Amino acid sequence: MNKEIFLCAICNINSGTCNEDCKFCSQSVRYKADIERYKQKDMELILQEAKTAHANGALGFCLVTADKGLNEKALSFVCSIAEILTKEVPQLRLIACNGTATLEQLLTLKKAGIKAYNHNLETSKEFYPKICTTHPWDERYETCQNVNRAGLVLISGGIFGLGETHEDRVSMLESINSLNPTSVPINFYHHNEALELKPNPLSMDEALSLVELTREMLPNAERIMVAGGRELMFGERQNEIFSHGANSIVIGNYLTTSGREMSKDLQMLKSLGLNIAKAVQ
Ligand code: SF4
Repeated sequence: MNKEIFLCAICNINSGTCNEDCKFCSQSVRYKADIERYKQKDMELILQEAKTAHANGALGFCLVTADKGLNEKALSFVCSIAEILTKEVPQLRLIACNGTATLEQLLTLKKAGIKAYNHNLETSKEFYPKICTTHPWDERYETCQNVNRAGLVLISGGIFGLGETHEDRVSMLESINSLNPTSVPINFYHHNEALELKPNPLSMDEALSLVELTREMLPNAERIMVAGGRELMFGERQNEIFSHGANSIVIGNYLTTSGREMSKDLQMLKSLGLNIAKAVQ
């Protein structure tokens, strides 16, 4: 297989403080999931995580906040981190993932050194009211449009295994495609017993066919990324995601769950003869 794999690491700069009710999310305060919760991660720790990500081949480094969207305090925190990381680890492409955002907020992030913004549609417009009642899907779509207007790179994907139908999956992918994202992260629901949502019903074969479907339905996206839930969903068959269309993965830990050691992913890529991407457009 002769293709390059783009590696990205994510950094939860505040955790578990969200008042929204997304039924798949252990960071909502409503479900009292047993996760680490904090308002602001220490800057030294963020810097250390960024350096580790870079040393392990990550090109993307995503600063994530758990909340519906940006407020003044969060915006200034993300901007100050972006300014420091731009100086200290300039090789990393900085991504922000801070929920709904206005055009003005996105332009402020861009000025601080953020290159891309991640905002997932999560699921179809039709199914969304079943998994979230505190904010509408349309707001998510509008934020993605704002990202495009701001001239930031758009990263937008969703999550499978929430109880959605095949039609919902197709509808979500069509909506994502209409936004013309550069990268499409797909997540597989990782059940937490504090959440009411039933465990992810997808089999490995079904999940692989969804990676393939995503690749087919987003022909212009540069990257199809398998993000959260990879280890749990694919187990020993993780290597198969690349032959089904994925060309990007998250390395290291996820927002509230542990990933596997970065070195294991690097070994997997090497054994498959896949190169790690050294630069992005
Ligand atoms: S808005 Fe984001 S952080 Fe908040 S509950 Fe929903 S998915 Fe979780």
